[in-house]
Parts: sequence; structure tokens; C-alpha cells
Amino acid sequence: MDVPAPLPDAGLNTAFQAGDTTHAEIRSEVARLCARFPGAYWRALDAERGYPSAFVAALTEAGYLAALIPEEYGGAGLSLSAAAAILETIHAEGCNGAACHAQMYIMGTILRHGSDAQKQAYLPAIASGALRLQAFGVTEPTSGTDTTALRTTARRDSDRFIVNGQKIWTSRAEHSDLMLLLARTTPRDQVAKKTDGLSTFIVDMRTALGHGLTIRPIRTMMNHNSCEVFFDDLAVPAENLLGVEGRGFRAILDGMNAERLLIAAECIGDARWFTARSTAYAASRQVFGRPIGQNQGVQFPIARAYAQMRAAELMVREGIALFDAGKPCGPEANMAKMLAAEASWAAAEACVQTHGGFGFAEEYDIERKFRETRLYQVAPISTNLVLSYLSEHVLGMPRSY
Ligand SMILES: Cc1cc2nc3c(=O)[nH]c(=O)nc-3n(C[C@H](O)[C@H](O)[C@H](O)COP(=O)(O)OP(=O)(O)OC[C@H]3O[C@@H](n4cnc5c(N)ncnc54)[C@H](O)[C@@H]3O)c2cc1C
Repeated sequence: MDVPAPLPDAGLNTAFQAGDTTHAEIRSEVARLCARFPGAYWRALDAERGYPSAFVAALTEAGYLAALIPEEYGGAGLSLSAAAAILETIHAEGCNGAACHAQMYIMGTILRHGSDAQKQAYLPAIASGALRLQAFGVTEPTSGTDTTALRTTARRDSDRFIVNGQKIWTSRAEHSDLMLLLARTTPRDQVAKKTDGLSTFIVDMRTALGHGLTIRPIRTMMNHNSCEVFFDDLAVPAENLLGVEGRGFRAILDGMNAERLLIAAECIGDARWFTARSTAYAASRQVFGRPIGQNQGVQFPIARAYAQMRAAELMVREGIALFDAGKPCGPEANMAKMLAAEASWAAAEACVQTHGGFGFAEEYDIERKFRETRLYQVAPISTNLVLSYLSEHVLGMPRSY
């Protein structure tokens, strides 16, 4: 493409923006690993919708994806704060953790709700990377955000469950060995509470594929490997039921705070990347005989997004501190995800505007990161649903749905 070469990553300094300087060693090690995967690597994958296998392998080998698995199961036994530092750095360095971030937190459901036999069977293999637990099957096309209205059923048949139904947006399904599946085991009209009667299963997709399990990728605006997954009389051994039958909704909810806080950390990383790009370009691009960054009209959106990022970061830290202390953190995890996703979007928007036409050129990586960071206002939970949760459960206003 006939455009001036973008500024090299090496010239950017995202560290100066970080309010959170904890885990300095982890941050610098992760940044060093990310330097092996520059923009050109991600652009090539983006064009062919490829999976970043080499990047995921490097993270796995370095032990980062096993950060949250306790040492007794072969993991690093680190805090959520350390895991957040890993993902934030990945994003601040221009990479994308979405290809594998779920390997970090889905296992939390096995850790908290699995039997001893299940923990021994899965956690060490997940920690070593021998088993990939990347897929999380909750969302369905008809029920959407109304999770308890999901239609996938699991019917007991002696020593197995027979699963029928469909999931949508099951990310990384093609690149995972296992899936954590939420299905209804008792019909909704036969339970006292609609959250009852749902159960969680570990599905071994390696044996299921072609025997009742079909995976169909969905092409999206960014390279995310999200899929439709179909179950047609899929037999799942009863020993793969995770936790208590009918109590699966709680088991899934348990893991959501960690997911929201880690994704919020990724958004903070994105915001730092965009802001570093914006400030460097604003200083170097000369129009009307002076740097564009000398104009307050160019400075202010960047500065405002920076302030939003720093404020969101405080909420991410508060949520993580509560989580690591074993305290309830639902409101903080939800607010952190919402505020960080809004901050990364503001920084992305300012970055495109600062770059003018070049913000649209693939070679600058900005349009790619712009597409990638937009997701987090919709998934894993949309902004409206966060606001609805705060309105009802924190502020005590009437339930709206
Ligand atoms: C790329 C991608 C990856 C994903 N990965 C996964 C995954 O791995 N596993 C998984 O299970 N899911 C995954 N999801 C699904 C994601 O969690 C959902 O898309 C998201 O929760 C929104 O659900 P929905 O798309 O069904 O939207 P809907 O529920 O149909 O909502 C549509 C819009 O209406 C709004 N809305 C709905 N109800 C209300 C209400 N009562 N009040 C106010 N506003 C409302 C929502 O906020 C949203 O903006 C992924 C989605 C995407 C796009």
C-alpha cells in the first residue's frame, strides 16, 4: 500500500501511562514475548481469519495461560491481579488475548465445582497445555442474554446425558479440546426458580465432533474465531457433569466476575496502545507547518480518553483486590468491564481521528485494534445488562425484566 510507514512499535512507550505498576517483572517478560509477534503477524492472520497458534503456544509454554491454576495442579498459582497484568500487557503491546484468554478463567469452574477426580483429570493437563479448555457454551440464538430461557437440553439416560440443541458465539470452539456447556436438565416450567434446572458439563469435543457435535464458524468483523455449535443426540458421560445437577447456573455465574475483570484489563491495555499511538503520531505528523498535536482540537479527545482509562483502571484494581481477597465483587467487576470497554473505545475513536485517513490503512494496525476492542461493549455482557444489574441489585430499583 502506498502510505507512509507507521511508527514502529519499539518507539512507543505505553508504560508511562500505567497507573498500575504492580507485577513489573511479569509485565516486562510478557512485553518481551509480545515483541516476537508484531503487527505484521496479526495483520496476516486477520486477512486469512487464521488462529494465532504460534502466539498461543508461546504463552502456553511460558506458563502464562496457567497463571490461575494452583501449583498443586501444575499451574503458577498466581493471583487474578497477576493474570490481569499479563492480559493488559498483551493488549498494550498491540497483540490480542482473545484467542486464548478463556484458557485462564474457564477452568475456575472446574476448580470450584469439580470433584477431586475431575480436578485431577483435567487441571494438570490444562496447566501443561496438553488439554485446551477454551470454549464456553452459554449463549443461544433464541434466548440471547436471557440465559435461563436457553433451549439446549441434557436428558439423563442411565450413565450418560443426551444433549440436543444449539449454541451461538462459542468462541474458539475449533481450537479447543474441551467445552464447558450449560444445558437444561429440568424443564423451566417444572422448577421453582428459572435459574434452577440448568446443569454444567465438560464436553470432550475431540470425541464428540462428528458424533452428535457439529461446529460451524461465523465470519465476523474481527478475527475472533466464534462459532455456532450444534448438538444432535450427543452422548456425554454422566461423570462429566460438573457440580450438582440443576445448579449449573450458579457454577457458571461464579466464574463471570473473573472473566469480566480480566477482559476489563485487556481493555485498559487496548486504551494504552491507542493512546501511545495517538500521542506519537500527533507529535510527528506535520500539517500547516506544525505538529497536529499542537492543536487542542487534536489533543483533547486523546487526553479525555486517557482520563477515562485511568479512572476505569481504578475500578479494575478495586474489583481485582476484592476478588483476590475472596470478597464479593459483582458490582465492581461489572462496572470495571463497562468503564474499561468505554475507555478503550474512546481511545480507539480518538486514535482513528488523530490519524486521519491513515487510521483506516491496514498497515497501521489501528483499524484492526478498533474492530477488536469494539466487541467488549457487547460481550461477554452488554453495557445495558451491566446497567440493569447495577440499577436493580446495587441501587435497589425495580426489576425491569
Ligand atoms: C465475537 C463474540 C464472541 C462471543 N463469545 C462467546 C462465548 O465464547 N460463549 C458464549 O456463551 N457467548 C459468547 N458471546 C455472546 C455474547 O455474550 C452475547 O452476544 C452478548 O451477551 C449479548 O447477547 P445477544 O447477542 O444474544 O444479544 P441480545 O440478548 O439479543 O441483546 C441485543 C441487544 O439488546 C439489549 N438488551 C437485551 N435485553 C435488554 C434489556 N432487558 N434491557 C436493555 N437492553 C437489553 C442488549 O444489551 C443488546 O445490546 C460472544 C459474542 C460475540 C459477538
